[in-house]
Amino acid sequence: MNLKDPTLLKTSCLVGGEWTSSADSRTIPVNDPADGLEVATVPRLDIGTVRKAIDAAHAAFPAWRARPAKERSAILRRWFELVVANADDLAQILTAEQGKPLAEARGEIISNAAYLEWFAEEAKRVYGDVIPSSGSSSRIVVLKQPVGVCAAITPWNFPNGMITRKAGPALAAGCTLVLKPASKTPLSALALAELAQRAGVPPGVFSVVTGDASAIGMEFSHNPKIAKITFTGSTEVGRWLLKEMADGVKRASMELGGNAPFIVFDDADVDAAVEGAMISKFRNAGQTCVCANRIYVQAGIQDRFAEKLVAKVRELKIGRGTEPGVQQGPLIDMKAVEKMEEHIRDAQEQGAEVVVGGQRHALGSSFFEPTVMRGVTQGMKVTHEETFAPLAALIRFETEAEVIGMANDTDVGLAAYFFSRDLARVWRVAEAIEAGIVGVNSGLIANEMAPFGGVKQSGMGREGSKYGIEDYLEIKYVCMAGI
Ligand code: ADP
Repeated sequence: MNLKDPTLLKTSCLVGGEWTSSADSRTIPVNDPADGLEVATVPRLDIGTVRKAIDAAHAAFPAWRARPAKERSAILRRWFELVVANADDLAQILTAEQGKPLAEARGEIISNAAYLEWFAEEAKRVYGDVIPSSGSSSRIVVLKQPVGVCAAITPWNFPNGMITRKAGPALAAGCTLVLKPASKTPLSALALAELAQRAGVPPGVFSVVTGDASAIGMEFSHNPKIAKITFTGSTEVGRWLLKEMADGVKRASMELGGNAPFIVFDDADVDAAVEGAMISKFRNAGQTCVCANRIYVQAGIQDRFAEKLVAKVRELKIGRGTEPGVQQGPLIDMKAVEKMEEHIRDAQEQGAEVVVGGQRHALGSSFFEPTVMRGVTQGMKVTHEETFAPLAALIRFETEAEVIGMANDTDVGLAAYFFSRDLARVWRVAEAIEAGIVGVNSGLIANEMAPFGGVKQSGMGREGSKYGIEDYLEIKYVCMAGI
């Protein structure tokens, strides 16, 4: 790494405004997925120190919530500006620990810094209500107040972006936040914490703790000072956290796994559909929770779509994220490689064929060839498990009713995409599909102005948009009588 500002590479945790190591000096290595080499180590914090971060968040809460919204807004705005100003360094840190191409890392940072900007603005618009009551001598007043101390747990696929979309609304609402980033990618989180400090976020308002995930998850779930947990990650871990939090009846926002259908109807603009599939499927090497997982193509354009998609996939440049022009880096680890191989093998055994790719890449490590398979059917693993890898599985269908049935035949519902130029069909399918986010004629739809979140077992709550801040607010009804 060749950072313009080397002080952004932090290897200790921010606990109540102090850079802190574990009391027993234990650490976790952070490795570059491109070669497995150690980039840095971060603390494996003892639980006593994690509790200190929670105590500090609890102590900081009364003053932070009492700050005029305009002041909280100004601090968030400064944080946003600092993230943008340091985007090149943040991108290098991100690529070193996560592997994605530098341009994509920079894109993640800029597009997600926008959540800090957006919620800096929304901080000033937390409006209540005055509601006419049944009697003339009273009024119903509705106040919106911060939930309290929040804990966030974030994944490795967007090491920077998954943080700003939680910290932005939490701090804007007047909550304080303790964050546990993914152990594979903590350096992006610590760099963000450094910038938060520089922006004037007061001690305790935003802390970052690294360490054993389940021990910290347990502490967050049972510590009575924590009012809410916001989590992005696997459905399995989300479900476990919900069970653990149940005793304390804590608030929860859960952004869990998806299994996005991507449907191409006969009447689609095929080139646009191929573009959409490329971005939705192969961005971040297929490691996003909104990645197309099952690509349903109507019989009439199957061959045309497949040919064009395969041609584009062949052009993808694979390599280390730091090399110019690279479009796909390594997968996060060998477990991810093995899962992709298992999905390919399972599909092949049931009659599907690999048209391009299908093998570990000659570059070694966790590099994998971007892959397209044809002849995939509904019963295969790749259609009912989230692959989280650069594997495009093409499934043929005949009718709209059939494909809606297949698309909804899953217990998760985060993103869905379809391509069609028939306006009536667009409405019908958008309304019928069971997903929290639907892309019509687009494969890239997340942004800070829109609500992001899932239905079914993909979770609860929304990030971004005017709805995003509601997840960090409680409604209080005040009956004003004797007027
Ligand atoms: P992924 O499969 O994307 O790694 P995980 O759900 O395993 O998704 O990880 C998402 C986040 O949850 C990471 O920060 C990880 O460290 C954390 N995590 C994993 N297991 C637990 C757990 N038992 N309790 C709390 N957090 C956990």
